[in-house]
Amino acid sequence: MKNILNITPLSSWINTGDQPLIISGPCSAETEEQVLSTAHLLANTGKVHVLRAGIWKPRTRPGEFEGIGSIGLEWLKKAKQETGLLTATEVATAKHVEEALTAGIDILWIGARSTANPFTVQEIADALVGVDIPVFVKNPINPDFALWLGALERINRAGITKLGAIHRGFSSFEKTAFRNEPMWDIAIQLKSACPDLPIINDPSHICGNRELIPYISQKAMDMDLQGLIIESHIDPSVAWTDAKQQITPAALAEMLDNLAVRRPASDNPIFEDQLADLRKQIDKLDDTIIQQIGERMKIAEKIGEYKRDNNVTILQVNRWDEIVEKRLQLARALRLSDDFASKYLELLHNESIRKQNEIMNTKPVAEA
Ligand code: PEP
Ligand code: MN
Repeated sequence: MKNILNITPLSSWINTGDQPLIISGPCSAETEEQVLSTAHLLANTGKVHVLRAGIWKPRTRPGEFEGIGSIGLEWLKKAKQETGLLTATEVATAKHVEEALTAGIDILWIGARSTANPFTVQEIADALVGVDIPVFVKNPINPDFALWLGALERINRAGITKLGAIHRGFSSFEKTAFRNEPMWDIAIQLKSACPDLPIINDPSHICGNRELIPYISQKAMDMDLQGLIIESHIDPSVAWTDAKQQITPAALAEMLDNLAVRRPASDNPIFEDQLADLRKQIDKLDDTIIQQIGERMKIAEKIGEYKRDNNVTILQVNRWDEIVEKRLQLARALRLSDDFASKYLELLHNESIRKQNEIMNTKPVAEA
C-alpha cells in the first residue's frame, strides 16, 4: 500500500534513546521568570526533551488572557540557551510561523481549533514551504478522523516530513470525567493509516485536571504512542491559563518515574515463542468463529425460506429480544462487556435480516 504521508523517522530529528519523547512546559508563557525557572526545573529532571509554551493563546471568549505575544519568543530562546532544551510553540497564522522561525523556535505545533479549519491549516502550510522544521498537528476538536489526516497531508505536501501528530482528545456533547474524550480508536485509526507517523499524547488537554494525568499517560504508553506533551508550571494554582491541569516539574518527574514504557516487541526468545503460540491459538479460534458464523447464516437462510413459503414476516421482535437476553447473560458470565456483546449480536442480527430479505425477494424453487 502506498504511504499516505512521507515521514522522516522521529529518531533522526530528536534523539530520545529508547525513551518516549517528552515535551513539557507551561500552557502559556506568562513572565520571563516563570518560563526560565520552569525550563531549569524541567531540564534538571533529565527526562524532558522539549520545552513548550503557548505564546498566542486561542481563547474561547474575548477579554481573557490571549497570550503574551512575540516577547515570549525571546524568553523561549533564552531558556534554550540556558538549558539546552529544544523549544516548541503553537502557530495559528502565517505571521505566527514567520515570527517563530525568526526567533529560532525548534518545533511548531498546530492547535486543535486550527486543525478543524482547512483554510487555517493551508495558510500555515503555505508559510512553511521551503522550511525544514518539525511540526506536530493536534487532532481537531471534533472527532473527525479525515480532518486530522487532511491537516497532516496539507503540512506534508508543503514539504514538511519531520511531522508528528498529537492526540489531545475530542469535544463531546456528553460530559464525562475528561475535558476532552480520548476516543482512542481515532488515534489507533491514524496509527494504522500512517504507521511511520509519530503520534504523541496530550494527557493535559484530555484530562483537564491534574489527577487523571498519570492514568492517561500510562494508557498512551500501553497503546504504543511515542511520547507525551504535558503542561507544567512552577506554581500551577496561579497559572494564567489551564490552572487545573498543570503540574509542577517535580510532579512530572515523579509521574514519569512511575510510567511503564512498553515496547512493541521483545528480544527475549522465550517471550517471542510464547507470543507466537498464543497468536496461533487466536488464529485458530478466529477461523472457527468465522466458520460458525457461516453455519449460523446458512440456518438463518433456511428459516428465511420457510418464512417466505409460509408468508410469515422476517422480523419477530419477541424472538429476538429473547435471543439477546439469553446471550447477554452468557456474555456477562464470560466477562464480556454488555456494550461489546450487544453490538456483536446486533451485527449478526442485521446480517441475518439482510439475508432473509434477499430470500423473501426470490421465488420458491418450485415456482421458479
Ligand atoms: C495548548 O496546548 O495549550 C492548547 C491550546 O491545546 P489545544 O489546541 O489542544 O486545545
Ligand atoms: Mn493549555
